[in-house]
Order: sequence, then structure tokens, then C-alpha cells
Amino acid sequence: MTPRRVVLLGATGSIGRQAVDVIGRFPERFELVGVVAGRDIDGLRAVTERFGVCRAAVVNPDPGAEIPAGWGVGLVAACEIAAMPSDTVCVAITGAAALRPTLAALDAGNTVATATKEVLVMAGEVVRARSRAGGARIVPIDSEHSALWQCLRGEDPASVSRLILTASGGPFRERDPATFGTITPEEALRHPTWNMGPKITIDCATMMNKGLEVIEAHFLFDIDYARIDAVIHPTSVVHSMVEFRDGATKAQIGVPDMRVPIALALADGERLPGIAPPADLPALSPLDFLPADARRFPALGLARRAGELGGVVPAVLNAANEVCVDAFLHGGCRFDQIVADVADTVELAPRIDRPTLDDVVEADAWARRRVGEALVH
Ligand code: MG
Repeated sequence: MTPRRVVLLGATGSIGRQAVDVIGRFPERFELVGVVAGRDIDGLRAVTERFGVCRAAVVNPDPGAEIPAGWGVGLVAACEIAAMPSDTVCVAITGAAALRPTLAALDAGNTVATATKEVLVMAGEVVRARSRAGGARIVPIDSEHSALWQCLRGEDPASVSRLILTASGGPFRERDPATFGTITPEEALRHPTWNMGPKITIDCATMMNKGLEVIEAHFLFDIDYARIDAVIHPTSVVHSMVEFRDGATKAQIGVPDMRVPIALALADGERLPGIAPPADLPALSPLDFLPADARRFPALGLARRAGELGGVVPAVLNAANEVCVDAFLHGGCRFDQIVADVADTVELAPRIDRPTLDDVVEADAWARRRVGEALVH
């Protein structure tokens, strides 16, 4: 069997390092042909030396950093690596920076395995159009979407009645919402089950993460927003569910280990042996499910509204949220202000049918300015 040629964008981050781990365990299955990192030159060099990778680039090196011979520098170099012939381009770059490399991969007809929900949230319509034009597929790495992908396999799309994303509910699932204004960054950064970066951890506490995932699911599985729901499931053992028209519900269960969805995406749906230990069901019992309270977690309804408005509105939602979360982490905004300020910005967002990439980039910049000014006042 010829190994699958993999390009890894964001090779030194949390998802990227776990992808490297999976690739390293199956040298006969995967060949790493191109790697990109944000600025971690030493981390990336360790990967290129271990795997003998032929092409590498660093997007934002620190000023004066010594770039190894033959490496590319900057976003254009990253896009060139994304577009090189490969079987899977794994996108594990955080946030909006992943947008252009993802489009470059799709334009080249490469299959994209994406861990970066922001790309689909910001530019879902553009990404969908480009992937259709280039005949390229997008497969999910985000754990909930990987679960949905697994539940949907072999099923007739017409028989699906609802996608149900599970949400841990974050650390404030039981806290009195009247006290949300006094929540500190330290409290919000204590996520009960997953260990992730600060931005996504705050998004889990506000449930904006689940809101963004509703939009991500809409574009990945081409299903209308009215049929995408979320349910609180504190232990994150069920990664998500699909409900069918006959009344059956399929759930995907597993220990919280991102290497499972990463390996499945890299192998394009094939299950590789021994990625994680199987779920010990008695030890993980009981499995609790609670409705997602719209009053406690307004982010969910807000994201669905932004998705339904479409155009550049989801990009505005995403950008305003990034600014507010950053402000909250640095003491510039109260916890309960995050979603409120994002909601205000969403209502003022320009309405554009069939946006171009330039429209998206412009709306993103507009939202950052607008919410930045609102935070100062
Ligand atoms: Mg997720």
C-alpha cells in the first residue's frame, strides 16, 4: 500500500503535535511531505528532521530569527505548501490565519482535514463554493463533527432528522447567571474535561464554541440550522449524535482523546488500530444529558441567528467574539459582556448575499474595529 501523502499546517500546535504523533506511529501508512508552523522554528525543525520532510515554511517568524536553508517564509509560502500534490492537507492552524491556506488546498483539489472551525464559520459560503469548484472534500477533525461524520456514514442523508452536538456546559453550567459578571479569567479557564488553549476554553465557558460548531456543522454536512441542536453532556463521553426519521438516534462514544478524530481524518475514514483505549462504560457511567438553557447560554441562539442571516454575518460573529474573549482575558471586558457585545455587533453587521473572500476579510476587520470601540466606551 502506498502511504498517504500528508501536508500538516500548524505542525507545532496542540492538534499538530498530536497529528505528528499519529503519523509517527504509522510510518507505512503516512508520508509527511510538507509542514508549516506559525513561528516555532525549533519545533518545526524537529519534525522535518524526524520525518525527512521535503518542504517547510514558517508564517510569522520572530524578527531576526534564523530561518533554516530552503524553508519558505510567510503566508504565500504556506499556501504553496497547502497546494502541493498530496492526499490530505491537515489544517491545524488556529483561527483566521488558516483561511487562505485552506482555500489554496481546496483550489488545488486536495482533501482538507480541518481542525479549524473558524475557517468554516468565517467563510463557509466561500469555502463551500471553492471545494465544489475544485472537486475537493473537507473532512472534520473537531471531535463533535468527527462524531457526526461517523454517525452519518452509510446513512441516506434524506433519513436524517437532526444533528445533536454535545456540549460539556463548561465550568458555569450550575453557577447562578446573575453572578456571571464577576467571573474571573482564572475561573473561566478551568475547563472540566478537555485541556485546550485559552481562546477555545473561554468559548466553552460562554458556549460560543458550540455556537461556532453549529455553523461548522451546517457547512460540513449541508443541513439547515433548524435541524442542528446542542445538548449539555457534562462528561463529554458521547461526542455527538444523529437522530433519524424512524426515531433511532446514533451516538459516537469514546474517551476524550483528539488523536482518534485526527487519525480518522488523516486516514480518510479508515480506522487505524490502537489509537486510544476503548471507553470503559461502567467507569464512565452515568451518562447525563441536560437541555442547553438559552438564558444561561445566549451564545448558542446568537450563533444560529448569525448562521441563518448568512453572508458575512458569521464572520462578524467570529471576529467580534475573538476581540471580546481577548479583552476578557486581559481584564478589558466582563464575562457576561462577551456575548452581549458580540450580539450588538451581529445586529449591525452588513448584509451581503454570496460574499467574496474580500467581503469576508472586510467584514472581519469592520467587526474588530466596531467591537474594539464599543469596549473602550
Ligand atoms: Mg469541538
